[in-house]
Amino acid sequence: MSSPDPDVIVIGAGQAGLAVAYYLRRTALNYLLLDAGEAAGGAWAHTWDSLRLFSPAAYSSLPGWQMPPSQFEGYPSRKEVIDYLARYEQRYDVPISRNWKVKSVTREGDYLRVGRADGTSLNARAVVSATGTWSAPFTPDYSGRNIFKGVQLHSAHYRNPQPFVDKRVLVVGGGNSGAQILAELSEVARTIWVTVKEPVFLPDEIDGRILFERASARALGNADATANTTLGDIVMLPSVKKARDRGALTSARPFDRFTESGVVWKDGSASVVDAVLWCTGFRPATHHLKPLGLVEADGRIEVIDQQAKNEPRLWLAGYGNWTGAASATLLGASRTARAFVPRLAKSLL
Ligand code: FAD
Repeated sequence: MSSPDPDVIVIGAGQAGLAVAYYLRRTALNYLLLDAGEAAGGAWAHTWDSLRLFSPAAYSSLPGWQMPPSQFEGYPSRKEVIDYLARYEQRYDVPISRNWKVKSVTREGDYLRVGRADGTSLNARAVVSATGTWSAPFTPDYSGRNIFKGVQLHSAHYRNPQPFVDKRVLVVGGGNSGAQILAELSEVARTIWVTVKEPVFLPDEIDGRILFERASARALGNADATANTTLGDIVMLPSVKKARDRGALTSARPFDRFTESGVVWKDGSASVVDAVLWCTGFRPATHHLKPLGLVEADGRIEVIDQQAKNEPRLWLAGYGNWTGAASATLLGASRTARAFVPRLAKSLL
């Protein structure tokens, strides 16, 4: 076991972990971030090449330092976000141990023990889990999925359209991932878009700011919360608008089952496809917390605000609305960290 142990361990140095670090820095506690990855950027280091934020830089900042304006029609690119997060770490001198994949968190007297596969561990008086969702992609269980002989790829592992040139590709999923990937794939491949219901497109003149505003209003019980807009609504980025203008954004409701060469629709007709791209979302990456006996079937943990209900030394940051309004976004992660870190610090006094 290494020593001395920090007061607080933050597992995950993505945007949520960095926001927590910013507020921990203002306390008298010593803290350490552990991250499984080799370099800065959290999930952004693994996303597809053309990914754009759906909101301008000014709405995508961590506390203390605003993201510089984007050079790409207002919507920051993946590379710009990674650069920003890397510089943010340096600016605030965030203590991070990399290549430190946490395998388990267990109770050890007054401490929580954070261990990795090689048997080494650290103890802390409090642990913040900020491991995001990217390492836990979710694929729905369509009948016959295993007999399909074509390619199946989750958006978590998609990089660019090159391998799909001239192929027949089924894109499943009606959120921003599905829309962005479909937009570029449909330029080079024959695409079919499958969504559970008709996708909701935001008006062209509205960018992702409104999604943050509505999510916050909803969390605060504001009257505006009745507005029918969610973080999953599709922002009309330039690439998505172009796809619409080409007529590529029509969608079909889910098919009935897979065959070896494609899918059969609910009306009995069939389509032959070469590949299926699952843009069907993620689950909380909380496998390391299982030894605590708190993780539910969908990967969540019962929290009161950000503190685990049945383990007060454990705090959760990021992941989604269940740990704070829009907490899977840069702005939401910052707001929730600002709200809970002072409470965490007080709990250790
Ligand atoms: P992550 O970025 O996933 O960071 C988690 C970190 O934890 C990683 O570095 C990982 O290595 C580490 N980790 C995981 N497991 C372990 C472990 N067991 N031990 C140690 N370390 C571990 N967000 C916005 O704010 N604005 C946007 O406009 C926006 N647009 C988006 C558009 C699309 C199409 C998509 C798909 C996403 C978008 N997002 C946007 C969301 C954003 O990509 C993620 O939600 C965000 O990266 C989550 O941050 P996080 O810090 O919670 O998790």
